[in-house]
Amino acid sequence: MKTQVPAEGILKQNDWGDSKVYRVTCECSSPECDHNIWVESDDTGIAVNIYVTTRTNFWSKTRWTHIWTLLTKGYVDTESTICLKEQQAINYAQTLVTASADVKEFRNARQNNKERATITKMANEQDCI
Ligand SMILES: [Zn+2]
Repeated sequence: MKTQVPAEGILKQNDWGDSKVYRVTCECSSPECDHNIWVESDDTGIAVNIYVTTRTNFWSKTRWTHIWTLLTKGYVDTESTICLKEQQAINYAQTLVTASADVKEFRNARQNNKERATITKMANEQDCI
């Protein structure tokens, strides 16, 4: 199975060159299960942030049990599930690989342009002729 372009289950939402945003959709089509992915390049390297909406495991306990757990432990357990078909999973993985390479390349090209501009400016300022 090969990756697809455009990719099933992967929605590209924004692209600022050094930062790309995707939405990975759940097979159940509920937006509550989706993953929001930010792939960004900065001075420290590549950062991939995946945002997920979680829910308490409300089906296993009563609300009073959750309230009691929150009062006594200070937190309640939450979890999230996203259901992907094989093709979507392959597309998800490839999107992370491709987006990481793209933002890195964009940042390197911009850095090279800045260095070139700095060298040109220094050369012009030191021109004695
Ligand atoms: Zn779902």
